[in-house]
Amino acid sequence: MKDPPSTVGRPVRRRPPLRGDLVTLAGYHSPQVQVEVRLNTNESPLPPPRAWVEALAAEVAGVEWHRYPDRHALALRQAIAAHHGVGPEQVYAANGSNEVIQALCLAYGGHGRRVAVFEPTYRLHSHIPSVTGTDVVAGRRTPGLALDGAEVRRVMAETTPAITFLCSPNNPTGMVDDPAVVAEVADQGGGLVVVDEAYGQFSRWSALTLVDDQRPLVVTRTLSKTWSMAAARLGYLVGPAWLVAELEAVTLPYHLDALKQVAGRLAFGFEAEMSERVAAVVDERTRLVAAMGDMAVEQWPSEANFVLFRPTGGDGHAVWQGLLHRGVLVRDCSSWPGLEGCLRVTIGTPAEDDAFLAALAEVVGP
Ligand SMILES: *Cc1c(COP(=O)(O)O)cnc(C)c1O
Repeated sequence: MKDPPSTVGRPVRRRPPLRGDLVTLAGYHSPQVQVEVRLNTNESPLPPPRAWVEALAAEVAGVEWHRYPDRHALALRQAIAAHHGVGPEQVYAANGSNEVIQALCLAYGGHGRRVAVFEPTYRLHSHIPSVTGTDVVAGRRTPGLALDGAEVRRVMAETTPAITFLCSPNNPTGMVDDPAVVAEVADQGGGLVVVDEAYGQFSRWSALTLVDDQRPLVVTRTLSKTWSMAAARLGYLVGPAWLVAELEAVTLPYHLDALKQVAGRLAFGFEAEMSERVAAVVDERTRLVAAMGDMAVEQWPSEANFVLFRPTGGDGHAVWQGLLHRGVLVRDCSSWPGLEGCLRVTIGTPAEDDAFLAALAEVVGP
């Protein structure tokens, strides 16, 4: 498919002018290139369980399509809540966890307010606030790319952010934040703390243990990664009941369609299958990391379904192109601040990972 011609930068005649602050905001996208082996967006390499597809098909026949869906998506939220051992009033669901982040920015950010992020991290944590008119202040991670408690305290004290975004395991580093630092940040009383746990199933600990009505902290999760349901566009947060109630103010009526509500509710009946997938990915990751250890690359310790690495002495972008030339697409982070020369590879099926390892060995050499 060809992209439509770019209209950016052409003079506006009869067209309404785009909001000024959006003109300079580069869009977020990972190129969707048609190649054999796609290891660039951290999806699950496996489709969802067949039994889930069949259960969904059976329930879809019973959907009352002429009626609006349940506005509060109660059955879905009950399924999520039961999975985490909380109440449905502590769960807010939306069209992907990115939409959850957008709702949080609409509700607690906006003009004259700031969010804090700690780079390098997930780029949408600054892109989505910007789109909602919220200013972004960026702190740094340590040279080893870990979250630094002193730096978080400094940024929060100096800039009083309305929202502080943490990400554990962090994308694109794969590293898990120190639980003591996260707890301390949440108790600092400096606005809302969002812990993005898109890869939480891989982590040795979860900030879900910190969720409490007395603490301004939420944990976001998604069905796009470990749950093998990226196509369904479903994410959620677990947080204080008062916050979930307040988010209603920025949520469009009936924002979760009936099909998605059923798909998500049924997914939580397949927890064992999800856990098996996580274990299989971890096995593959271990194999990949060991094989890459024999190649001319530096890598970071990952507790997620991807690995950040930097070809030593080489040009990261050239390596990315070399891999693409051999039919393997990974994420090119080489131009991102703090990630000079780095690439990120998603753990795939054994066959996909073999293709990646063979291509990488050819491009960077042993
Ligand atoms: C992939 C990812 C998400 C997922 O976003 P969805 O909108 O749920 O697909 C959220 N946060 C991080 C850090 C991610 O890497």
